[in-house]
Amino acid sequence: MKKSDVLIIGGGVAGLMAGIELAKNNKKVILLEKENMVGGQCKTEVLESGDETYRFDYGGHRFITNNEVLLSFVEEVLGDDLLIAKRSSVILHQNRIYEYPLNLKNLLKVAPLKLLLGASLDTLKILLKLIKPNDSDFKSWISSRFGKTLYENFFGPYTEKLWGVKPEKLSADWAGQRISLIDLKDVIKKLLFKNKKTARTYAISYRYPKYGFGGLPKKMAEKFISLGGEIILNEAVESFTYKDNKIQLVHTKNSIYEANQIISTMPLNEMSTKLGFESGLKFRSLRFLCLGLDIEDFSPHTWQYVSDYDLLPTRIQEPKRRSSSMSPKGKSSIMLEIPCNKNDEIWNMNEDKLLELVKKDLKKLKFEIEDKIVDYFSFSTEHAYTLMDIDYSEKRDKTIDYLNNFQNLIMAGRQGTFRYIFLDTAMETGLMAAQKILNDESHTKEKIYNHRNEKTVIETKSVA
Ligand SMILES: Cc1cc2nc3c(=O)[nH]c(=O)nc-3n(C[C@H](O)[C@H](O)[C@H](O)COP(=O)(O)OP(=O)(O)OC[C@H]3O[C@@H](n4cnc5c(N)ncnc54)[C@H](O)[C@@H]3O)c2cc1C
Repeated sequence: MKKSDVLIIGGGVAGLMAGIELAKNNKKVILLEKENMVGGQCKTEVLESGDETYRFDYGGHRFITNNEVLLSFVEEVLGDDLLIAKRSSVILHQNRIYEYPLNLKNLLKVAPLKLLLGASLDTLKILLKLIKPNDSDFKSWISSRFGKTLYENFFGPYTEKLWGVKPEKLSADWAGQRISLIDLKDVIKKLLFKNKKTARTYAISYRYPKYGFGGLPKKMAEKFISLGGEIILNEAVESFTYKDNKIQLVHTKNSIYEANQIISTMPLNEMSTKLGFESGLKFRSLRFLCLGLDIEDFSPHTWQYVSDYDLLPTRIQEPKRRSSSMSPKGKSSIMLEIPCNKNDEIWNMNEDKLLELVKKDLKKLKFEIEDKIVDYFSFSTEHAYTLMDIDYSEKRDKTIDYLNNFQNLIMAGRQGTFRYIFLDTAMETGLMAAQKILNDESHTKEKIYNHRNEKTVIETKSVA
């Protein structure tokens, strides 16, 4: 049996952040990671083709924070490998390219007359208060604030493709958390004037590690180990021995662990099942198809959102736009993000078949790159997005109430707290969990689980 002061489950950025803080304060810490490397959703996968290297993140990350201390930490960990990148995004919709964020000049130039007329009529109805805000579900939230035309053209099809469920079955929280503009009046203000408050979605500059985001957890792991922490890879937590209000032992296939305190960043639903409570919470998965290309540049854009429902990918990204070191000199690459559920047809599809389908979609989008594909591979993540269905909030509250019975357990991170948070916020929850163990009573479990309310997550202004 292995003993420690604190056992951390999960070697993503949240778990590593907690580990560093605890080890710095002389705690004996063991971190268990089920995969063969640390990083979780912040890993970078590598495609070696001949003697050339292409790098791909789990969906192309950006580091944005308004926490100066956190930024200094990341700067110190990554040193010269931390770049400042600029993003450019567009929305592809029915063979038209819209600038993102939307701007009036581009909309008037690109949008078809029917869409402009429909949206103008909806705007009028909303401004005259003929339609009142309705928060009962995602569809109602959007249609009552942006109108039927924009819902049917953009928000509805994209959302259904992303989540695999009808938007009326999704919680309005999803819209409230992800759409940085409150309603059409806000859109108009944004279109006409330069709003000083920068929503995260609108931030142009961001920090990015030279060789992909996986550089951050790798360097954090080195720091943790140099402070005396221990990381055990390929060590999945399978079960717990628990009694009353305490987790006594943690079991993996090979070993048993005992610790005074446990910080867990494994998905909230899996944690609660192992402790005897079925949460009913679900995740949406993503499959990433990555293509190495024998072309200098695919496009000038970091991200291209594919809003058409009948095309598989939701986003196409070109890693080189974040850092030129992501693809070989003179070449480029693209990654297609394809939403799915674990073990569905897309999840299980063989790579060649997936490539054939995607090639057809790329053709429909007028990207003629078929003869430029040098090599390809794919990987997936089961827990890409917390599924915010209509009653997720109630299910989450009940699960957290149940887990709160265990006095020596703190949940942290994105999956661990079942929240759609970004990596900076995930790191902060790890830090708070560690500080709570180090007797900072200002951090209650409730504060950790709800750290940064939705508005501040969205309005985080880049300090980059
Ligand atoms: C497509 C996509 C794009 C994103 N883009 C951005 C972005 O641009 N900017 C941004 O800031 N954030 C972005 N994020 C979010 C960011 O990746 C996460 O917030 C962050 O990586 C979460 O870190 P974490 O440590 O909480 O969780 P994770 O990274 O998921 O780490 C949890 C770890 O626990 C391990 N684990 C799970 N179960 C067990 C077990 N039973 N035993 C042992 N170990 C276990 C997992 O293997 C994993 O390594 C994006 C996420 C996705 C999916």
